[in-house]
Amino acid sequence: MSKEHKVTELEKTAREWLLDRGVTIKDIADLVYYLQAKYHEDLTMEHCTENVNKVLKKREVQNAILTGIQLDRLAEKKQLEEPLQSTIEVDESLYGVDEIIAFSIVNVYGSIGFTNYGYIDKQKPGILEKLNDKSSGACHTFLDDIVGAIAAAASSRLAHSAAGDSED
Ligand code: MG
Repeated sequence: MSKEHKVTELEKTAREWLLDRGVTIKDIADLVYYLQAKYHEDLTMEHCTENVNKVLKKREVQNAILTGIQLDRLAEKKQLEEPLQSTIEVDESLYGVDEIIAFSIVNVYGSIGFTNYGYIDKQKPGILEKLNDKSSGACHTFLDDIVGAIAAAASSRLAHSAAGDSED
């Protein structure tokens, strides 16, 4: 295995936590397909998946995943202090820190990511609809934004690579 394919402990944990919270790589790749299919006529799921995997290699993305999921889990167990406990538990719309953490992910591949993120956050297709289902009893205040942001970042990466830009 070459160096760039090495999976660090941090990446491994971030991937495990996503799965544990019910989010698969396929779920995120589906969002990328949803965002990009109209721009690339020969787009494949494999290509979407590859771009999601590249985004998950970034340390700032792994840190955002762990931080957000940790706060969601603590809120679910009612282990945060007030007023934060109620704010995160009810997913208070003016809180905004969940989106700030998502922006740190979107930012990784430049500004097209923001348009994709805004769009998918409004439409809430696929896994995002599931994560926003409040009747499940789970708290995904941070995770829904993080998943949308990973999809948006993977979409910008895909768009940049289709345009011939090289990176990592
Ligand atoms: Mg949120």
